Amino acid sequence: MHVVRFSRNGDIAFGVLEGDADEQAVAVIQGHPFGDLRLTGERVAASEVRMLPPILPSKVVAIGRNYAEHAREMGAEAPAAPIIFLKPSTSVIGLGDGIVYPEQSQRLDYEAELAVVVGRLCRDVPRERATEVIYGYTCGNDVTARDLQRADGQWTRGKSFDTFCPLGPWIETDLDPADVAISATLNGEVKQSSRTSLLLHDIPALVAYVSAVMTLIPGDVILTGTPEGVGPMAVGDEISVTVEGIGTLTNRVIARD
Ligand code: MG
Repeated sequence: MHVVRFSRNGDIAFGVLEGDADEQAVAVIQGHPFGDLRLTGERVAASEVRMLPPILPSKVVAIGRNYAEHAREMGAEAPAAPIIFLKPSTSVIGLGDGIVYPEQSQRLDYEAELAVVVGRLCRDVPRERATEVIYGYTCGNDVTARDLQRADGQWTRGKSFDTFCPLGPWIETDLDPADVAISATLNGEVKQSSRTSLLLHDIPALVAYVSAVMTLIPGDVILTGTPEGVGPMAVGDEISVTVEGIGTLTNRVIARD
């Protein structure tokens, strides 16, 4: 099931995307999609609505250096335990929204990531029960002002500008994420290409680790880390993140107005 979030005539709702690319429709969900999903019975043409980020999380918990080859390219050790940091909810944008190049930075990087969407209020989740609290998966881009990240010695400023967390195009609720392809293309050229089987700390381990620190609430997102091949973007560039079994998230880098 592809769960989307959209606005129509000023109202925001969740929906289930149906049909093929030529004739897509959205079956409108009553309230939120978590727990027992109820449809209102109304269907609208996808072309009649404006798609939004598929979820507006209370927090995005991101994982640093979770692929060995990426840790190596950053000149860092692969961490024994997950490195976690937060991206604010205000950094989230959706498919097609512009990534704004901040005037404080000279080095803006893409990072293709598999994003986990939490579906239940939870804490201290044992890894064997992680799948019970996961609602689905989407594509994420952990946009990073690399120069600011390095200059500050901790990551908040470099990771947190508005528009630094593209998510989408939808939440895929039926996916086994253990071994799927993940890639990034910049202006059509493949820059990152890996598989989630190479995650150093797998998704159940991340859910257990993060939920032992903070309560997770429905809609919260865990970005699982980026593979090797990260690199810079310039104003005008088009960056696409594709995760096998989910879809493609494309955004363009725009100048700050
Ligand atoms: Mg990252």
